[in-house]
Amino acid sequence: MPRVTNLRPSVACGAALAVFSLVIVKICLPHSSMDGVAAAAALIGVAGGAGSNFLFSYFSEKARSTSEVADEQLREVVDNLQRESSRLEAILGSMVEGVVAVDPLLRITFLNRAFAESMEVQLPLEARTPLVQVVRDHDLLEMFNAVFNSGEPLQKRLILSAGGTRTFAVQVTPLAGGPNRGAIGMFYDITEIERLERIRKDFVANVSHELRTPLAAISGYAETLLEGALEDPDNARRFAEIILNKARQLTNIVSDLLVLSTLESGKPPVPQPVSLRESVESALRTVEPVARSRGVNVVFRFAEDLDVMGHEIRLEQVFVNLLDNAIKFNRPDGEVHVEIAREGGRAVVHVRDTGLGIPSRDLPRIFERFYRVDKARSRATGGTGLGLAIVKHAVEQMGGSVSVESRLGQGSVFTVALPPVDSNAIVT
Ligand code: ADP
Repeated sequence: MPRVTNLRPSVACGAALAVFSLVIVKICLPHSSMDGVAAAAALIGVAGGAGSNFLFSYFSEKARSTSEVADEQLREVVDNLQRESSRLEAILGSMVEGVVAVDPLLRITFLNRAFAESMEVQLPLEARTPLVQVVRDHDLLEMFNAVFNSGEPLQKRLILSAGGTRTFAVQVTPLAGGPNRGAIGMFYDITEIERLERIRKDFVANVSHELRTPLAAISGYAETLLEGALEDPDNARRFAEIILNKARQLTNIVSDLLVLSTLESGKPPVPQPVSLRESVESALRTVEPVARSRGVNVVFRFAEDLDVMGHEIRLEQVFVNLLDNAIKFNRPDGEVHVEIAREGGRAVVHVRDTGLGIPSRDLPRIFERFYRVDKARSRATGGTGLGLAIVKHAVEQMGGSVSVESRLGQGSVFTVALPPVDSNAIVT
């Protein structure tokens, strides 16, 4: 390799300039590779001479290759940015939360699919569409304006009318670089969470009410006994019976609540094949004393036994609840018919009664917790208003469904449909 000291002065000077030019190239390249190459070429031209001609081609070659490297680096940076940007877009696009970015004039610069869907925006959207054309709710526009004015992020719970009235937890944040760059809004749909929260509150209120009624009776009658009724044997016995009755009612409510809570929160038991015939027969044994005491005749019919995938104890509870109602809400000397059948690829059990029937306006609500057509009658028969809620939950957990048809004054039919064990073999 030639050493610089062995070269003629003009060559050494050329070399020095060329090295300098390389430094220029290095400085210039990050901004523009072409500028760097031109600077190098100009400086090398000044050096002149035979040696400098050699160095010119040597260093311009070097400069070119350095510029190629820089070009490559630039390409890599651009590629990385593009990759990063598509990754971000994919992440924002797949988010369940709605995202919308706007410029300071409240024109949309970006929106993800979740936002478009929840606000029912037709895509593609024209560039810089005003946000007000998509969401007309004044509160939201106010929120963005407040963020632009203060430069501080803001969180609010808003009911937005776009895409049907829904409740959102909205967070608006100014984009990095100050509010002049725009702001981004995140929308969490909390409509369902709020609905469940309302149900939970109603449920707690209902439970308290249901417990308070028998408790008030128990303490009332106990006080009356202590205040002197104990000395009156006829009344003492009657009051003691009422207390016992109310205490039983409390026990029924608490045990039904426990069953419901296990159904809702507990892990469903692993389904096992259960014989419908055995399950119904076992339930019939449980309700037999009530049927006898009310003079209701229960008839059980099945052309074939069917196994379903379920949980033995829960399935029996389903039939006990349905049969108990069919007997309780029947007329004296009424009838209950239980039948197992195969219908539309499903194993079904019909529980038919000749009882009071259910008014059509109440039918859609009778599976709700604590819903009763006639509260007084339900309580008088030891009902809790939770029996059908348990039935629905348990059956659905086993992959089945429960339905009801009823005619006022004529009777009701409750139908439980479950997937039979051999469902694959059934032609529907
Ligand atoms: P309850 O403890 O009151 O029986 P359920 O949840 O089992 O509670 O039933 C809810 C309500 O549905 C009952 O109070 C009753 O009004 C009505 N109901 C249920 N089954 C029947 C039936 N077979 N015939 C008439 N009404 C019924």
